[in-house]
Formats: sequence, C-alpha cells, structure tokens
Amino acid sequence: MLPDQQLLRIPGPTPIPPSVQRAMLHPMIGHRDQETKELLRKIKPKLKKVFETKEEIAILAGSGTAGLEAAVTNCTQPGDEVLVIVTGVFGERFAKICEAYQLNVHRIDVTWGKAVDTLDVENFLKGHPSIKAVFVTYCETSTGVLNPIQELSNIIHTNSDALFIVDGVSAVGGVQTKMDEWGLDLVVTGSQKALMLPPGLTFVAASKRAWEVIEKNNIPTFYLDLQKYRENILSDSTPFTPSISLLFGLNQVLDMFEKEGLENVYERHQLMKLMTREAFKAWNIPLLTRDSCASPTVTSVIPNDFNPDALRKTVKNDFNLVLAGGQQELKGKIFRIGHMGYCSPSDILQTISLIEIGLVKTGKNVMLGSGIAAAQKILTKEVK
Ligand SMILES: *Cc1c(COP(=O)(O)O)cnc(C)c1O
Repeated sequence: MLPDQQLLRIPGPTPIPPSVQRAMLHPMIGHRDQETKELLRKIKPKLKKVFETKEEIAILAGSGTAGLEAAVTNCTQPGDEVLVIVTGVFGERFAKICEAYQLNVHRIDVTWGKAVDTLDVENFLKGHPSIKAVFVTYCETSTGVLNPIQELSNIIHTNSDALFIVDGVSAVGGVQTKMDEWGLDLVVTGSQKALMLPPGLTFVAASKRAWEVIEKNNIPTFYLDLQKYRENILSDSTPFTPSISLLFGLNQVLDMFEKEGLENVYERHQLMKLMTREAFKAWNIPLLTRDSCASPTVTSVIPNDFNPDALRKTVKNDFNLVLAGGQQELKGKIFRIGHMGYCSPSDILQTISLIEIGLVKTGKNVMLGSGIAAAQKILTKEVK
C-alpha cells in the first residue's frame, strides 16, 4: 500500500484537486493589496453562478458552523419564534445555535433517514403565523437525505412571511441550488465539501428580502456581522484578513466548474449516487434512504447482518479507503460514503470494488464482481 495514497470517501473534508493544491501554493500577499482585490473580483461572479443568485455573497474565514451561526444571529432577535426542521445531526445543530441565541425554537423532528414531509411544514405554519424564520438542512450529511428545498420554499412563502434559511454545506457545488429562482432567503456553505477545498471558508448568500431584515436588525455581533462583509465585497475586499491561500484555491475550483460546466458537475454527482446505490442493491445490503430523497453527495448504508465499523476498519487497514461512520443515534448502525467534489465515476468504481473485497473479508456472503457490475451497468448506459 502506498503510504501517501489515501482514498478519502467521507462526506467532508474531501480530496483536493492537484491544480487547486498548486493554486494554494501562491506566495502570500497582503490582504489590502491590489492582487487580493483582483482575486476577489474574479471570484465574485463565478461564485454567484454556483448559488444562482444576483445578490452579494459574504465570504468568511471560519468553518461551516460559523456560517450557520451568522445566519441565525443576523436574521433573528432573541425571543423570535422560529421553526427548525430537524432531519439529523446538522438540523440538530441549527436548533442548538438558535437556542444559544435565545430564540423561541419550534421543531419538526423527522425520523433520521427520511426527508421532511412538506405537508407537516404547511400545517405547522398555518397554526403559527408569527414564525420569523424556517431553518432546514439541504443535504443532511448525517443520513444522506436531500430535503425538498424548492417545494419547501414555495410552501413557506405561500403560508408565511418567514425567511427561509438553508444549510447547504454538503450540497452547494454538488447539487443544483437555484437560490433566486426558488426563493431561498439565505444559503450557507463551507469550503471542505462539494467545493473541494480545505476546511476554513464559509459562504453566506442572502436574498434581497433577507438583506432588508438584516439591515434593520440591531444585533450584538461583530465578526459575524454580514453587513460588514457585504459592504466590503462590493469593493472587492473583506472586513478582516481573509484566508488568502484558500481564495487562490477557490478561484481555481470555480474555473474548474466553468470548464466542466455546472450542469455536468451536477450530473456527475447524480451518476456517482446511482452507481453507489445500485451496488448495494445488488449485494442486498439495505440503504438508509429511499431513492426519492437520496442525496447525490453522500450515501448511508444500514447493514442488518454485519458490523459497519468492522467493514470500515478492514478497508482502511487493507486499502487506505476511508469511509465515515454513523453519528449520534446512528453510531455503530450505519456507514457513509462521500461522493462529492473531486470524485469521479471512476473513483466510485474503485471504491465499490474495494468495499466488495472488504465485505468478503469481513464474512459477508457477496459474490465478487456483483456490485461492481451493477455500477458498471449504470456507467455503461451513461457513457453511450
Ligand atoms: C459539514 C457540515 C457543516 C459544517 O460543519 P463544520 O465542521 O463547521 O465545517 C454544516 N452542515 C452540514 C450539513 C455539513 O455537512
């Protein structure tokens, strides 16, 4: 085994493309230099295309959670009634942040592994007219569920005046996110998932409506004040020292997106999802999510006759293939395969092939080649 060849198939951090690594090696420059301004000027329009928004996007140095916290504090005031849709660990995190800011938190708790039923949200909103904001996770990374955010947005805007705030951390850049067209008010993402960068950047895109709320809001925050970021980005700068190296990387990632074409990026993710799911179906190993709400970026598997952590250990030891385990209530029950960012259908063939060997080694009775054939069939249809 090559000691430096790690096959990172977890839902973040994800592998970094070599050209992005090289871009990040750029010598350090001053954050008030013309060169940084030019870099931000190049980044801005390309980043807007990924969010499909015309509005300005705040770029903060921090992990995704800093972006979630910025969303909460900029759009609400203590005591506000909000609804958090909890479909897993990250919905739970949104709820905890809202509680930390002393909001009056209502929850819709959904069985982990399922997507929210939009009817439940509609009924809730009809009975709670004073809700100021609805929070949801686009891709719930802990389960691999993709929540129906376009439909949710319609329902929320038809039945309330609430802002619709979306955690898109493991989706944006891998799943289409038509922010303006769908009426999403705030979309947050981070650098280390589908954007194939190291951890350390978070992005907050806000709609016109959201900016109006934010402008009126008198909030006790300093570093996370989104208005500062908007004022600065309008003149191609940031209020504080940005992660300059990551910005060089980001510019390269956005160029890669343009070259591949965003539509093709999203199709590639769909294809990787299908290949992965078909393999497990062929092995008769249950998936946690249904086809109808399965995320293109991460797949959760819930085996009923072997220990998922034993399989993870085997493929890590034998092939340096890194899979993710379950979190919180799903710990020890599931494992998760990340297929987002710098990951291709060819990589998925390798992943499936190695998992197949891992399954045999851990004593699961699968036929070698059966899962890989199922994935190949998907790819064969696709490349014709
Ligand atoms: C990874 C992730 C986050 C952010 O986590 P950080 O560790 O703070 O970067 C938030 N939400 C979702 C859905 C995620 O997948």
